[in-house]
Amino acid sequence: MNIIFMGPPGAGKGTQAERIVEELNIPHISTGDAFRLAMSQGTSLGLKAKEYVDQGLLVPDEITIGIVTERLLQEDCNNGFLLDGFPRTIPQAEALDLFLKENGKTINHVINLSVNREFLLARLTGRRICKNCGSTYHVMFNPPKQENVCDKCSGDLYQRSDDTEEKVGTRLDEYMNKTAPLLDFYDKKDLLRQVDGEQSIDEVTGDIISLMRGQNK
Ligand SMILES: [Zn+2]
Repeated sequence: MNIIFMGPPGAGKGTQAERIVEELNIPHISTGDAFRLAMSQGTSLGLKAKEYVDQGLLVPDEITIGIVTERLLQEDCNNGFLLDGFPRTIPQAEALDLFLKENGKTINHVINLSVNREFLLARLTGRRICKNCGSTYHVMFNPPKQENVCDKCSGDLYQRSDDTEEKVGTRLDEYMNKTAPLLDFYDKKDLLRQVDGEQSIDEVTGDIISLMRGQNK
C-alpha cells in the first residue's frame, strides 16, 4: 500500500501517520528523515544537499526529489510506504509520478485530513506554556485547574509568539494556498480521499483504516 499523507498544521497528521504505518507495517517517510539519512550515509545527493543546508540555503527541488525517490527504492519500501511532507509542489508530484511509473509502482491513496480553519485556529492558538517549568497546556483540550497558572509549580503560563492568531492564520493560509493545487492534482487522478480530521484521534484512525481496506464508512 503506497500512501501520501496530507493535512494542515495542527490537523494531527504526525499522530495519524505513526498509527497507520504501525497498522500497515510500512515505513513512514518524511522529507526530513530522508534528508538526514542521505546526509549521514554520505550519498552523492546527500552531500549536495548538505552544501545547501550548511549555507542556510533552500535545497533545490531536483535534489529533494532525488533524495526522496532514492529512499523509496530501498528494500523496506517494497511492500509499501507512507509519504509525509512530500510532494509539496506540482513539479515534485509530477516527478514522483514519473519515478513511480518507471519503477512499476503506483500511489493507492492520497489521504487528506480535512479540518476547517476555525478549528485549527482554536487548536493552534490555545497552547499555553509555563514560564517556570515548561509544562504545556491547552485552554480547550488540556486546561490548567486555575486559568493561566501551572498545576505543577504555580508558575505563570504564557503563549508563544508563534502561536498568536495572526501568526497561525498566516501559516494556515500559506499552507492552504500551496497545497490546493496538489489536492486538485490528485483529485483529478481519483486518488484523493478526504478524512474528517475534526473527529477524535481514534475515529480518524478508524476512518483511514477503513479506507485502506476498501470499506466505505
Ligand atoms: Zn510550571
